[in-house]
Amino acid sequence: MSREASETASKAVSKAASAATGAAGKISGVSDKISEAAGKMAESAQVSKDKKNEKRSTPCVLCGVPVGSKALKLNLDDLLICPECWKRASVLGVDLADITSQELSGLSARFKANLFLPVGEALPDQSADGMYDYCALNGCGTGFSRKSAHKHFKILQDNLRPDEKVLMAFIGKNDYVSVSEHGGNFAYAITDKRFIAGQHTMLGQAFQNVTLRHINDATFSMGLVNGIIVIDTDKVKYTIGIDKESALNVNNRIHAIFDATESEPETRPDHQSASVTPSSMSAADEILKYKQLLDLGALTQEEFDAKKKQLLAL
Ligand SMILES: [Zn+2]
Repeated sequence: MSREASETASKAVSKAASAATGAAGKISGVSDKISEAAGKMAESAQVSKDKKNEKRSTPCVLCGVPVGSKALKLNLDDLLICPECWKRASVLGVDLADITSQELSGLSARFKANLFLPVGEALPDQSADGMYDYCALNGCGTGFSRKSAHKHFKILQDNLRPDEKVLMAFIGKNDYVSVSEHGGNFAYAITDKRFIAGQHTMLGQAFQNVTLRHINDATFSMGLVNGIIVIDTDKVKYTIGIDKESALNVNNRIHAIFDATESEPETRPDHQSASVTPSSMSAADEILKYKQLLDLGALTQEEFDAKKKQLLAL
C-alpha cells in the first residue's frame, strides 16, 4: 500500500470510529431517558398503589370497619361506605344517595350500636323500630317489608314488661313445614326473661311467650330453601323457617344468648317445678276463629258466647 493510500484508510477508520462513538453516546442518552421515564412510571404506580391501600383501609362511615377494595363513595363529602353497609342501608330502606350529613351521623350511631352489641346486652332501642333495626343490620331475617315487620314487632313492644330487656330479635315464618305451608311471618325476640313471639294479622294479633327456664333446646337444620330453627320448650315446639343465611346467623346468636343466660343459675332452675307460661293469646286466637264462624253464620250467637266463656274460663 502506498503511503497516500494508507493515510486515506487510516482517516476513514478514525472517522468511522468517531461516528460510532457519537452514535453510542446518542444511544446511551436515549437509554438514560428511558430509564428515567421508567423510574417515574414506577414512582407514580407506587403512589397510586399507596393511595389504593389507603382507600381500602379507610374506615366505613357507617360501621367503622375498613371499607376494602369494593368501597362505594357517597356523594356527600366523598365519604366511603363498605359494601356490607350499602346492603344494610338498602334493607333499612335508607337512600344513601340523598342522605344529609345530619341523617348520616344518626344512621352511623344506629349501625354501630346494633352491629357491635355484646352478647347478653340489651338492644340500644327496645321499640318495634329498634328491634327491626337489629334484625336488618345483623342479618336476622328480613323476609318482609319494614312496614309489616313493624306491625309484628309492635306486638312484642306492647307486651314487654317494664323491667324486661330485649337481647336479640329476629324474623321468621312460624310453624314452618315448607315454603307454601307455614303459619305466616312472626317477629321473635329473646329477652332477659322470656322467648316472645308476635304476629299481626287482619283478624287481630297473636302473642306467645315462654320463660327462658322452660326452653329445653334450640336446634338448626337446613331445608331446601330455608334454614329451620326449632326451639323446643316444655310444652310448645316452635319450628321457624328463615332464609338460609339469616337462619345460621340467628341460630348462632340464640345459642350465644342461651349459653350466657345458662351460666346464671337463677335463670334456669329445675325444669319440673313449673310449666310453660300459657300463652294468653291462644285463647284469643281461638275466639277469633269462632268469631269468624259466627260472622259466617256457621255458629249461633249462643254457641259463640258459650265457647267464648269456656275459652276465657269465666
Ligand atoms: Zn360498613
